[in-house]
Amino acid sequence: MDWFGDLIFHNDKFLGIQWSFWKVLGWLGNVVFFSRFFVQWYATEKQKKVVIPSSFWWLSLIGSLLLLTYGLHRRDSVFIFAYAFTWIPYIRNLIIAHRHAKAHQTCSDCGGESPPSACFCPECGTKLPTLNSTAP
Ligand SMILES: [Zn+2]
Repeated sequence: MDWFGDLIFHNDKFLGIQWSFWKVLGWLGNVVFFSRFFVQWYATEKQKKVVIPSSFWWLSLIGSLLLLTYGLHRRDSVFIFAYAFTWIPYIRNLIIAHRHAKAHQTCSDCGGESPPSACFCPECGTKLPTLNSTAP
């Protein structure tokens, strides 16, 4: 299994990468940014309809800011331009999602939406948790 060890650690480089603080930061940005696709895919499979959860926008925002920081450190104009403005729609989507969440309640079973006063999901009939219940 020596060949395997050489593949992982080669010339003191883990996975062939010379690690530094900036490499860790850049790769962390890659991992966070890439993970958003799985989060969105999972949410869509769970609800059997195309949805974009708020966590997708958070991962997009954090990942792109990490990658922008890395690009600024490298002074790479291609990298910087790629991530310089993407935070604007991410933050805008988070604001709209927050406002929408305050004005609606989402069914935990099917993802169906109803007004805050509804007791049952209009799509699947699941009983919804009532936050401001006035019932005895
Ligand atoms: Zn439902």
